[in-house]
Amino acid sequence: MTTVETSTVPLVDLRIQRDRVADEVGEGLARVLEATAFIQGPDVAAFEREFADYTGRAHCIGVGNGTDALEFALRAAGIGPGDGVAVPANSFVASAEAVLRIGAEPVLVDVDERYLLLDPEALEAVAGRCRAVLPVHLFGQMAPMGRIGGIAERYGLVVVEDAAQAQGATHRGVPIGGWGAAAGTSFYPGKNLGAYGDAGAVITDDPELARRVRLLANHGSEVKYEHEMIGFNSRLDTLQAVVLRAKLARLDVWNEERRAAARCYTELLSGVPGVRVPEVAPDDEHVWHLYVVRVPGRDAVLADLQASGVGAGIHYPVPLHLTGALGGSADRQGEHPVAERAAAEILSLPLYPGITTVQQERVVAALSAAVTRHA
Ligand SMILES: *Cc1c(COP(=O)(O)O)cnc(C)c1O
Repeated sequence: MTTVETSTVPLVDLRIQRDRVADEVGEGLARVLEATAFIQGPDVAAFEREFADYTGRAHCIGVGNGTDALEFALRAAGIGPGDGVAVPANSFVASAEAVLRIGAEPVLVDVDERYLLLDPEALEAVAGRCRAVLPVHLFGQMAPMGRIGGIAERYGLVVVEDAAQAQGATHRGVPIGGWGAAAGTSFYPGKNLGAYGDAGAVITDDPELARRVRLLANHGSEVKYEHEMIGFNSRLDTLQAVVLRAKLARLDVWNEERRAAARCYTELLSGVPGVRVPEVAPDDEHVWHLYVVRVPGRDAVLADLQASGVGAGIHYPVPLHLTGALGGSADRQGEHPVAERAAAEILSLPLYPGITTVQQERVVAALSAAVTRHA
């Protein structure tokens, strides 16, 4: 065996990004340490301005993490106890958690077979008992916001986008946050724009919604020791803002690297029977947070990949309606058939800025062998 064949390929390798911004981040962190401006230092406001500009929104409010961003956006939009909020059945648990934390009810909705994004027809079926919808821009591709927006308008639904996986994505040329009352995003380290710890943001064009999010994130206070409401302590850390500013300046280049890597996988996998590759909707600019294929015998295939040193993952193995902590249970099997089928077949392949063609070839060779073995 050659060294190439025995080397491992991780699902995500953050060292490459870290090295590319090392000097700038080092200088920035030193500047913050020198000034000891750890909370709400000037880098926070600067990052908020830069990220608002990047997404074309009027306001960006940095918060402690993406889950808080979603919760604050929903609260600030006036959603609360007893309200139904439509959420796709295949997402990270946080999409539903944010809804439950404000006392509202997640009304789970199936996804479409082709892109695994919130299905407008399934949304329409429950829209009458909802006050809001939380479309998730999953895997780096935006939900079909034109159609979702039309339904929201007909039924008077507030739209809050879960844009945790889609920094840089567009739908019909419009970026995240441009379709809803607000969008919440996450800067968890592995996201397309990732900090060196937890961080998140809300973006919006609505000045009053922005003001309420700012209050919620900072003890209900705009002016020190004047408290308009009971809020939370969930501010964007100044040290994280330094990291995010350095990385935001490179985000488009890195998303382009992700796109090139996705094209490379799709090409290499075109000759591999049994592997269904992800598709890009014609209206979308995809930023490939994850490259998710579908394969039969997924668990056995995944075990083989891991044994051969290829990091692969499942996003996500259990649909939300079958997740116990959310009030789901196994006897709800069958409620959202597309999400359930997908959960049994999906496999996320290693993808990150800086992944090499040799690494991708190794992933495809291992996948091809595993699929053949378990066909
Ligand atoms: C990461 C993620 C979140 C939550 O973000 P945190 O920063 O981890 O709280 C919410 N929704 C989706 C779809 C995510 O991928």
